[in-house]
Amino acid sequence: MAFFRKNMPDKVTKTRGEDAHFCLKMKKGRGSCVLLNDRRCSIYQNRPTFCRQFPYHFYAGERISVELDLSCRGVWTGNGVDAAEEARALAEASEKRLVSELKESSEVYREFYSICREAGVMSDVSAIRMALSANIDKFADPAYLAKIMDRSLEEPKMTLENLTPDNRYDAAEMEAAARDAALESMGSSDPMMVPVYCGKDWSWNMFMAADGRITWSVMDDDGNLEEKGTVDAKDIPLKPLDESGRKMLCQYVSVLNGRESFLGNVFHTMDRLGYEDDMANTYYGCMCVTILDLMWRASMLDHFFGTGMGEDGIREAIIFYDMDRLDAPTIGAFV
Ligand code: SF4
Repeated sequence: MAFFRKNMPDKVTKTRGEDAHFCLKMKKGRGSCVLLNDRRCSIYQNRPTFCRQFPYHFYAGERISVELDLSCRGVWTGNGVDAAEEARALAEASEKRLVSELKESSEVYREFYSICREAGVMSDVSAIRMALSANIDKFADPAYLAKIMDRSLEEPKMTLENLTPDNRYDAAEMEAAARDAALESMGSSDPMMVPVYCGKDWSWNMFMAADGRITWSVMDDDGNLEEKGTVDAKDIPLKPLDESGRKMLCQYVSVLNGRESFLGNVFHTMDRLGYEDDMANTYYGCMCVTILDLMWRASMLDHFFGTGMGEDGIREAIIFYDMDRLDAPTIGAFV
């Protein structure tokens, strides 16, 4: 802060609201950081901690964990330094802050668990995760997701035991659920609020949903938006995955299953819904909605960019989706 206040006070601003904090301004209030010129940081040696940490994010939940932002194209190249080592060094550099945040978040978690016990909706998180992991290959199959969603409504405390895909599921209903999940996350006319898909050509693509239609725009380096196309969301079917796309999706589900921030989002959902559903039902339900959202977004990217539903198409959908995923509301916080 001292550096920015002294050298470039016009480049920082303070957000409004309860959680007011200083941040760097954005071009036209919605584009890239004002310090990004020709796609390069003009203050690279003095960039803030958040920028230094990217694409790692430190999450304070019941413990501190590090999560890799898969929307960063760099992480998919397989080049560069050892990620675990780099993340450890960054964690050590911020240790004091992480420890103090952990104190606060552990307290919130304790309170959360005690409410769950009282409401009778507590389940064993490691057992939930292990069961998901043991069945991971089925999680890319809409027929299996349909079964999970049915069971979560039928049974007060569901398990995945003896759950098999049923191909008589209502495909139209699943397609509508996938479309609704995706439209909800894109439902804003404010470019600041919608997810950004960084294309293969490094373009910044935004998809804004309104009245069932999706408008695709590209934002240039100065924060200007250019409309590229529009489509009725119902004209984009939920497309079936190729075998390689299925494998890629299952790998991503496995990453989500290990992320503490995903768990924090499940807990946030339980809190939002008033502790009515069991932890297991909410966990599997959130995972199903996440997968459907991602599959539909993959179908949408295929519609606009012809990315397909194989490994390449699902990777692009993950690049599009993961930034959003890490932004999901949680009990706990990124530090
Ligand atoms: S690294 Fe940080 S300070 Fe530099 S341009 Fe990017 S967002 Fe701005």
